[in-house]
Amino acid sequence: MDFTYSEKTELLRAQLSNFMDTYVVPRIGQWNTEVHAGQYPVSFMEDLKSLAKEEGLWNLFLPHLRADEPGTQLSNLEYAPLAEIMGRVPWSSEVFNCNAPDTGNMEVLHMFATEAQREQWLVPLMNGDIRSAFAMTEPDVASSDATNIETSIRREGDDYVINGRKWFITNANHPNCKFFILMGKTDPEADTHRQQSMVLVPMDTAGVEVERNITTINHHSPEGHAEILFRNVRVPVSNLIGKEGDGFMIAQARLGPGRIHHCMRAIGMSEVCLELMVARSQERKTFGKYLHKHGAIGEWIARSRIEIEQARLLVLKSASLIDQVGARGARKEISMIKVIAPTLLTTIADRAMQVFGAMGVSPDTPLADFYTGGRVLRLADGPDEVHLQTIARLEIKESQDNLLKAANYLTPPNRA
Ligand SMILES: Cc1cc2nc3c(=O)[nH]c(=O)nc-3n(C[C@H](O)[C@H](O)[C@H](O)COP(=O)(O)OP(=O)(O)OC[C@H]3O[C@@H](n4cnc5c(N)ncnc54)[C@H](O)[C@@H]3O)c2cc1C
Repeated sequence: MDFTYSEKTELLRAQLSNFMDTYVVPRIGQWNTEVHAGQYPVSFMEDLKSLAKEEGLWNLFLPHLRADEPGTQLSNLEYAPLAEIMGRVPWSSEVFNCNAPDTGNMEVLHMFATEAQREQWLVPLMNGDIRSAFAMTEPDVASSDATNIETSIRREGDDYVINGRKWFITNANHPNCKFFILMGKTDPEADTHRQQSMVLVPMDTAGVEVERNITTINHHSPEGHAEILFRNVRVPVSNLIGKEGDGFMIAQARLGPGRIHHCMRAIGMSEVCLELMVARSQERKTFGKYLHKHGAIGEWIARSRIEIEQARLLVLKSASLIDQVGARGARKEISMIKVIAPTLLTTIADRAMQVFGAMGVSPDTPLADFYTGGRVLRLADGPDEVHLQTIARLEIKESQDNLLKAANYLTPPNRA
């Protein structure tokens, strides 16, 4: 397997890195200052979006773009290294219209929207004029098992009436968030995986109440992880995505490429942690030696490099598999990277914080935010344990043909 970046990928990487160095990195301080002062979206976001669009650095994540749609047509393997570069400054993905959960929602609408839904929701989303959210998780049920979802979507004439409570709904506090893709149950009596449906719910519909923005490990995300009450929310039946009962299938289709994006962004953050660790360890001395000359810290640097390279190769393999056989065929690899990348990030951020001493846990470095980002990613898009269960299940299934061969390696004693 050869994951050497193609010439096209190298050109885009250089262009994107240059854009980041010229326009994004110099504004990290300003972003922090404005957001802490309650200004969101930040004053320069629309300018940066325009620049990115002009440069063709727009909607880089969608392999199946139509010719008349804005953006590039990169494969998952081509996009993955670009997601890594964006991950270095987590808020930057929005500059290129490549931020979750809008990316996943665009993929869903791209695959399943009617022409009218396309015009009303997908086109403005692809143009970056609006933002969106994906509302599945509920506080009252274990939502890592999507069949538990209880929000009701009841048909009444030409409308659906929605009742339920959702939480951790990313982006819902963004002032430009205009709609949700909401998952609920249209038929609680149907087969387990046909009870769910997805509907489009405009943010300003009567009965949608955004109650709070939930902090994560006390970290405030301005775009929000919102708790939302849907009380007798009425939308026309034309807002259904696909058919009634398709919700579970659509949820599955939505999640493959998004996990590549999350994991590559985590690798980008891990690289920044390592770069900071390496720089700091060459500036500070204790007991007569630079920090990197102390064995423990040299080992953290070395291990971090090894672990980043391992993780990146596995993510690139998963991206390549999705391109070749689709997300379903790449299920095991996708679950593997979803377990590895967040833990990689928390481990390397933790080492870097330690090397920085007290400054490492202050707001003067991005390390604490990166650590939080890695830790919450062990839950978002499926907890580690669910992915480990998937890997084990597939491993057991694939082993069936080899059980007899495996037995040949056993040499038990002959017992009388
Ligand atoms: C930062 C962040 C952003 C999020 N954004 C969104 C969003 O935009 N939209 C949305 O709908 N949701 C979002 N979520 C919610 C996320 O998808 C859920 O938290 C996740 O699916 C787990 O569901 P739960 O919290 O109900 O945990 P539960 O389902 O209650 O699971 C709790 C724990 O049980 C254990 N567990 C579960 N299954 C197994 C198993 N098979 N084997 C062993 N142990 C198991 C795991 O340790 C798991 O963490 C977000 C979450 C976070 C933290």
